[in-house]
Amino acid sequence: MAQHNLIRVAVPVPLRQLFDYLPVAGPLPEPGCRCEIDFGNRRLTGMVWEVVPPGDSDHDPRKLRPLRQVIDDQPVLDSDLRELCQRAAQYYQHPIGEVLQTALPVLLRQNAPAERQGELVWRLTARGRFADPAQLARAPRQQQALVTLAEHPRGLSRPMLTSLGLTSPPLRALEKKGWAELVQEQPAELTDRTANPLAEPHLAATPEQDAAIRAINASQHFAPFLLDGVTGSGKTEVYLQAMAHQLTAGRQVLVLVPEIGLTPQTIRRFRTRFSVPVTVLHSGLSDRERLKAWCDARDGQARIVLGTRSAIFTPLRHPGLIIVDEAHDNSFKQQDGFRYSARDLAVWRAQLLDIPVVLGTATPALETLQQAESGRYRALRLTHRAGEAKPPVIQLEDCRGLPADTPLSARSLDALGTTLKANRQALVFINRRGYAPMLLCQDCDWQSECDRCDAHMTWHRAVRELRCHHCDHRRPVPARCPQCGSQHLRDMGAGTEKLESLLRKQFPDTRLIRIDRDTTRRKGSLDASLEEIQRGGAALLVGTQMLAKGHHFSELDLAVMLDADAGFMSADFRGPEQAAQLILQVAGRTGREDRTGRLLIQTRQPDNPLLQLLCQGNYHRFAEQLLSERRQTGLPPFGFLALVRAESLQPQPALTLLQEASETLPLDSGLQLLGPIPAPMERRQGRYRSQLLLLAPTRGILHRHLPALLDALYAHPLSRKCRWHLDVDPTDL
Ligand code: ADP
Ligand code: ZN
Ligand code: ZN
Repeated sequence: MAQHNLIRVAVPVPLRQLFDYLPVAGPLPEPGCRCEIDFGNRRLTGMVWEVVPPGDSDHDPRKLRPLRQVIDDQPVLDSDLRELCQRAAQYYQHPIGEVLQTALPVLLRQNAPAERQGELVWRLTARGRFADPAQLARAPRQQQALVTLAEHPRGLSRPMLTSLGLTSPPLRALEKKGWAELVQEQPAELTDRTANPLAEPHLAATPEQDAAIRAINASQHFAPFLLDGVTGSGKTEVYLQAMAHQLTAGRQVLVLVPEIGLTPQTIRRFRTRFSVPVTVLHSGLSDRERLKAWCDARDGQARIVLGTRSAIFTPLRHPGLIIVDEAHDNSFKQQDGFRYSARDLAVWRAQLLDIPVVLGTATPALETLQQAESGRYRALRLTHRAGEAKPPVIQLEDCRGLPADTPLSARSLDALGTTLKANRQALVFINRRGYAPMLLCQDCDWQSECDRCDAHMTWHRAVRELRCHHCDHRRPVPARCPQCGSQHLRDMGAGTEKLESLLRKQFPDTRLIRIDRDTTRRKGSLDASLEEIQRGGAALLVGTQMLAKGHHFSELDLAVMLDADAGFMSADFRGPEQAAQLILQVAGRTGREDRTGRLLIQTRQPDNPLLQLLCQGNYHRFAEQLLSERRQTGLPPFGFLALVRAESLQPQPALTLLQEASETLPLDSGLQLLGPIPAPMERRQGRYRSQLLLLAPTRGILHRHLPALLDALYAHPLSRKCRWHLDVDPTDL
C-alpha cells in the first residue's frame, strides 16, 4: 500500500488533542479548511490543522479512517487566526476543536459555505419606482410599503421589514400589481479604500489627547497602549482620530466594547464620524447576518468592526488597529466553556498581526496597570475632563445607624429632593434587581431559600413571584409561611423594584425611570428609556450596573449609591478593585461642563481607608495601595492563578476528584494549593461545587504543571460522575 500523507484534524470534542485521518482523492487540503469526518459513530465538521508525513503519526495508518470530504477549497481561518486559536488553546489548556467553535460563526461550525449568502429582499420593480403613492390613498398599508421600499433601493430583508413595521400582505399586494418583487440581495460594492473616511470633522484635540493620538499613530508595528483617562476625558475622541489614521491608509479597525456598552449611542458615535461602513456584531444578529458580517470583515468591505468579546476572532483583510474600550470590564472574560480573556487575546492578536492595540479605561485592571508599570504596555494618560468639566465630588454617607428596612438615609433623600427641585436629574444606584432579596417568617425564621442553590430567592413583587437569580427557579409568593403557616412574612433588604416604589411615594410628581434587566427585557425598551432620559428635565433614575456603564447623561447632577461597600468585605480578593471601578464609573456619569457632579456613597464602613482614598477620586493612589497588598500576598498580578471547579450531585465526588487529582502534583512543584474546598456558593442548580485554586509565583511554573493535572483529572474514574473545568486567570472566585 502506498504511503499517504496524513491529515491532522481539530475536532470539536472535549479532548485536548488532534486526530489523524487519511486524505481523500484529489489535492491535499490546506490547513484551515473544514472537513467532514467520522468520529466514533458520529459525523462531525472538523478543521484541517496540518498535513503530516506518514511516519509522523503514532497510529498505525491501516487503522486510520479517511476524511469523508473536504468542505472548503480556501481556508476559512487564516494563519494568524489559527495561530491565535492555537496559542489560546495552549494557554487556557482548552481543546483546540472547541476553541475553533468559539472562533467561527455558527453556520461555519457546520457545513455552510463560507460565503455571503444572498438574502431574499423585497424591492421595487422598474414600474414600482415610477408608481405614484397617491394612487394608493385608499390602501394606506400598501402606500406605506411603497414609500418605504422607495427609500431602500437595494431592497429590504425580512428582519428589516419587520423592524420597520411592514408585514407581508401589503407587499404581496404590490407584487400582484407588478410594483414589487422578492429577489436575491446583491453584494455590497467594495467601497474605495482610499476615499476620505470622515463624515464630519474631528474635534480639536486637547494637548493630552493630541499626545496620545500621535503616539498611537506613530506606531507602524505591534505596540500595546494603555489609554488611561478619567471618565469624560475624551478617550473616544482619541479612538476616533486613531481610527481615522488607519482608515485613511485603507486599513480596518476592530473595536471591542463590553456587552453592556454596545448601545445605539456608541454605534451612533462611530457612524456619525465616519462615512465608511461600520459592521456591528451584536447578539441580536441571526446566524445568517452574523456570517455576512464575518464575510464583510474578511473581505475588507467592513472597515470598522464593532463587537463584544467574541468579535476578537473576526477575520480582517487589512487589519490596522485594535481598540478595547472599557478594557477593565469583566464581560471581556468568558465565564463558561472556553474561558478566555478577550482583552488578553486582543493584545496577542495585535502582536500576531504586528499592529497597535489600545486598551482604554478610566479604571485599569491591576493586571493592566502592572503591565504599564513594568514597561510592557505604554501608558497614555488623560488626566482632565474635556472642556471645562470638573471632576465629580465623592462623599461618604455614614449609614451605620440606618434601620435595616430603610434603604435611603435622610441626607440622601434630601440631596435627591434638592436636585429634582432644581429641575435636574438624579440617579439611585443599587446592583440588585427585584423588590427584596428575601422573605422571612417572623414567627419561625423560615427564609425564602432556593431548593436548588445555597441562595435566597428574590421577591419580585409586581409579578408575585420568588425568583432565584442563580438558577432562574421561580415559584409563586406564598401567602403563608410554608413551614409554620404564619401570615407574618416580611421582606428584608431592597432591590430596584422596592426603591422605585419608595421613591414614587416620596416624589410623587417626578418622572421616574427604572433600568434593570427586568425593565429592559423587551427589545428596544432600554433605548426608549435612555431617550426618555436624554429628553431632559427633572427625573429620577433607578438602576443597576446597566445604568453605570458607557452612557452619557447631560443633566445628571447627583448619584446615590447603595451597598457599594459590599465589595470591600467580599471574600474574593478582587472585591475592592471591582467595587472601586463601579464606584468611579457611577461617579463619572454625573456632572458636565457647567455643573460639578456629586456621588453619595451610603456606607456602613465610613472609616475604611481604601474607601476614603477612593473619595479623593484618585484611582491611581487607590490602585497603588491594592498593588502593594497584592505584592505582599503574591496574588495577581504578582502571582498566577488557575482554578479547577468540579461539581456533582452529591458533595463528595467533586471534592474527592479534586483532592486525588491534586495529589498527583509533585510536592516540590512550587505551586501553592488552596483547597480543594467547597465553592463559595456550594450548591447551585442542584449540584455541589468544589474548587481547587493553584497559585504560582511565575507563569512558567503554573503552566508547567497544568497538563499533568488535567491528565490526572481526565483519567480519574470520578471525572465521569462530575462536571469539571479549568479556568486560567480566573476573575470570578
Ligand atoms: P470618555 O470616553 O473618556 O469618558 P468621551 O470621549 O465620551 O469621554 O468624552 C466626553 C465628552 O467630552 C464628550 O461629550 C466629548 O464630545 C467631549 N470631548 C472630548 N474631546 C473633546 C475635545 N477635544 N474638545 C471638546 N470636547 C471634547
Ligand atoms: Zn414560619
Ligand atoms: Zn437557585
